[in-house]
Amino acid sequence: MARPVVAIVGRPNVGKSTIFNRLIGERMAIVEDKPGITRDRIYGISDWNGKSFSVIDTGGIEIDGEDAILKSIRAQAELAIEEADVIVFMCDAKSGLTNADEEVAQMLFRSGKPIVLAINKVDNMKRSDDIYEFYSLGFGEPFGISGSHGTGLGDMLDAVVERLPEKEDIEYDDDIIRVALIGRPNVGKSSLVNAILGEERVIVSEIAGTTRDAIDTPFERDGQRYVLIDTAGMRKKGKVYENVEKYSVMRAMRAIERADVVLVLINGEEGIIDQDKHIAGYAHEAGKASIFVVNKWDAILEKDDKTMQNFETKIRDHFLFMSYAPIVFLSALTKQRLQKLLPVVQHVSQQHALRITTHLVNDVVSDAIAINPPPTDKGRRLRINYVTQVATKPPTIVVFVNDPSLMHFSYERYLENKIRAAFNFEGTPIRLFTRRKS
Ligand code: GDP
Ligand code: GDP
Repeated sequence: MARPVVAIVGRPNVGKSTIFNRLIGERMAIVEDKPGITRDRIYGISDWNGKSFSVIDTGGIEIDGEDAILKSIRAQAELAIEEADVIVFMCDAKSGLTNADEEVAQMLFRSGKPIVLAINKVDNMKRSDDIYEFYSLGFGEPFGISGSHGTGLGDMLDAVVERLPEKEDIEYDDDIIRVALIGRPNVGKSSLVNAILGEERVIVSEIAGTTRDAIDTPFERDGQRYVLIDTAGMRKKGKVYENVEKYSVMRAMRAIERADVVLVLINGEEGIIDQDKHIAGYAHEAGKASIFVVNKWDAILEKDDKTMQNFETKIRDHFLFMSYAPIVFLSALTKQRLQKLLPVVQHVSQQHALRITTHLVNDVVSDAIAINPPPTDKGRRLRINYVTQVATKPPTIVVFVNDPSLMHFSYERYLENKIRAAFNFEGTPIRLFTRRKS
């Protein structure tokens, strides 16, 4: 099931990025070195009351040139209308209702999309009366919130979640591996798709109209069926925001949602940039299996026995949170090492779907506890009663304990590492949850 999308829209400085960071905050900390307000990242996963959704901070999509602000606001609203299932329209109680707000409102109004009106910077009781003038926008009750204090967000999110649709997606048989190729423009996504399909000498048919205008390409190799998800550059063009590089990141996120295995393409010539990290981080958060594909390996003319190892070290340093992902070096152009790729895809896909019996996983955890007993907190010791895998894709394991508040992040990490060491789970994140049961 594809995750529904919530977009935050509003003129500059109302607090969109502040709220965005609050919504995705906890998860981001895992992936980013420097949490805090950054406009690098405009897409993340959040949840409320058990409902998971993607959030877009449209303020990160900016158009340069004359009338930059006005053009940007329009492009942002256009993007939200096109991509989002629910739009959070944000205004600012401190500055009150402005003409720019009214202009955004008109665009949103015509779209017919569900709108939740949020008035930010309601930092104190005194200002909570200032939200009433926003009723005139015609979107119903305004929700007073404060990005600085985090107040009011619960009621706003209730309203958002209420309006989220159940998303339908095309259903594939369980034995078909869904693969997404992601990476910034020019890294070689289209070339790799063509190389894979060309090599297999298969008849390619495209399945159009899966979600909006995504295109899927099925093929078969050595008895294994695959489908390539939303292959590069096939979506309709012409929107103002299409040319904005950050939008291509967002488009990648969509493909990731629908995939089992994500190929994170990295340009072997240029090395790793922050944007690679954001995209890979998203695949991790979304619980997908991942493989780093270092493309254009042919273009590195001076190679010795250390070149590959050095590049590998760089990847590992940048993507500490994804040490499980294998790395494949290849050239889509010369097809050098290309034949190594699909077997790795097949392997990580199996790991992603792996189910370990309760008996086996408990043996591993018992051994881990014997070597390194759980910590105590104020004289009370964490007691682990049993452990069981409750889901696959990604493997999800629940640890039943006497009191979850005694479980520390570092001990959870320790258990995760032990489980990984025992069962490998190469290429896939694993999720560990701690629950009370005595
Ligand atoms: P954006 O341009 O809409 O993304 O706005 P930002 O999130 O960058 O915020 C613009 C400014 O408003 C920053 O200086 C924030 O610190 C400030 N701000 C954000 N939320 C609040 C709030 O709830 N109260 C107050 N007083 N300031 C806020
Ligand atoms: P996309 O934007 O990610 O789909 O990238 P393309 O597949 O369109 O490739 C961008 C450019 O990189 C094109 O000029 C390709 O010929 C070139 N390219 C792609 N793969 C390779 C490769 O493995 N080696 C070299 N040298 N060039 C490549």
